[in-house]
Amino acid sequence: MSLKLLIIFVHLHILLAVSGEYKSYVGYKVYQVTPKTKSEQNHLRSLSLSTELYDFWSIPKKLGEKSNVLVPPKLQETFERFLRKLNITYAVAIDDVETRVQRERFLQSVVRTFSQSIKFNRYYRYDEITHYFDNLARKYPKLVTVKTVGKSFENRDIKAITISKHSIEPKNTILVDAGIHAREWIAPATALYIVHELVENYAKNKNLLKNLNWVILPVVNPDGYEYSHTKERFWRKTRKPYGNCIGTDPNRNFDFHWNEIGASSNPCSETFRGENAFSETEAIALRDLMRSISRDCKFYLSLHSYGQYMLYPWGYTESLPETWKEIDDVAQSGASAIRKASGSQYTVGSSTNVLYAAAGGSDDYALGVEEIPISITMELPSGSGSDLNGFDPSPNKIQSIVEESWIGIKAMASSVDEKFRNATKGFR
Ligand SMILES: [Zn+2]
Repeated sequence: MSLKLLIIFVHLHILLAVSGEYKSYVGYKVYQVTPKTKSEQNHLRSLSLSTELYDFWSIPKKLGEKSNVLVPPKLQETFERFLRKLNITYAVAIDDVETRVQRERFLQSVVRTFSQSIKFNRYYRYDEITHYFDNLARKYPKLVTVKTVGKSFENRDIKAITISKHSIEPKNTILVDAGIHAREWIAPATALYIVHELVENYAKNKNLLKNLNWVILPVVNPDGYEYSHTKERFWRKTRKPYGNCIGTDPNRNFDFHWNEIGASSNPCSETFRGENAFSETEAIALRDLMRSISRDCKFYLSLHSYGQYMLYPWGYTESLPETWKEIDDVAQSGASAIRKASGSQYTVGSSTNVLYAAAGGSDDYALGVEEIPISITMELPSGSGSDLNGFDPSPNKIQSIVEESWIGIKAMASSVDEKFRNATKGFR
C-alpha cells in the first residue's frame, strides 16, 4: 500500500469508527476448528444448530476438515473452554476481523469507476447492477431483456436478465441465480461476469447462445445484500422481522420437505426457515421465475460461497435422486474443466453427502417440484484458495475467481446442451 493510500485508509478508519454507521467487529475472531472424531463433529454440528451466538461460516463436514466460526469477544472464553473440554483441535484463523472488514471497505471505496464497461475489481452495489442491466437492455435490444420478477420485503425490484438470440428453433433454458445469501458477494459478481461474457463478449461465446437461452437473477435477496454492504458485513438472511430478530434464510424457505432437517425454527438463527414455506417474498420471486420457464429449463445453477463444491440434490436426505448420474455428469464436467484450467479442486456430490442435510433449499425444489432435470449449487472459492478469507475475497481477487468459475460454468452449460439438445419440448 502506498503512503498516500495508507493515509486515506487511516482517515477512513477513524471516520468510520466515529460515525458508528457500520456494525463493529472489534475484538471478533474467526476460529478454525477441526473435528478428529465423529463425536467431536456431532458436538460442533449441534452447537451450530442450537445457538445463534456462534456464526458457523462452514460446518464440519468430514473428519480432519477445518471449518470457520465467527465468535464475538464476550463468547471467546466460553467457546475455547467448550473446545478444550471436548479436546477439539482449534486455531485462530482471523485474529482481527474488524481490520479485515475495514480493509475491504477501503478497497471497495477507492475503485469507484463504473464507466461504460463493467470491471471486476470491486463488488457492485444493487443499484449499480440494475443500472448495468438497464444499459445492456438499451444497447443490445435484440439480445437482452430485463424483467422485474418480484419485490423484496423492503420493496426493491428483484430483476432478472434474459439473454436470448432469436431463432425459430426451440431452445433449452439455463437459469442462474446468486445472492440468495447476502454476504456471499462473490456469487453476484460471478453472475454479472456471466452476463458480461454472454452479452458484451457475444462473438466469443455465441456457441453458448446457439441452442440455449440464459436467464440470470444476480441478487435474489437485495435487502440483505445491501445491508451487508452498508451495515453488517456478515449478514446472511432477508430483512423481514420476526419478533425481536430479523430475517429468514431464504434457502431454507422453499416448499419441498420444508423444515424437515438442518433448518432452525428460531428467528434469531442464521438458518431460520421462515414461519412457513414461502413466507419470504424473495423465495416466491425465484419460485415464480422458475415456474415461468420450467418447461424449457434444463439447468438450474445456484451460486453461493464458499468452499469449492458442486452440490446437487438431495439436501433433505442422504438418498440420491433417480437421475443423480445425469446431474453428477454435468457437475463433474464443470469441476474437471476448472481443474484443467487452473488446478483448483472442486468436490462434487449430493449436498447431504458432501456437506450436511438441510431441507427447504432452492436446488431441491427446482428438481423435486419444478422438475428442472439438472440442479446444481456451486459453492465458489474464498479469496485465498483456502478457507481462510471466508466471505471476504479481496476485491483484487474477484477477476481471477470469476474467470475461473466461468470456465466451469461454460463446461456445464455445454454438457447440458449436448444432453438435452434433441429432447422434445416437455420431455424430461
Ligand atoms: Zn449460501
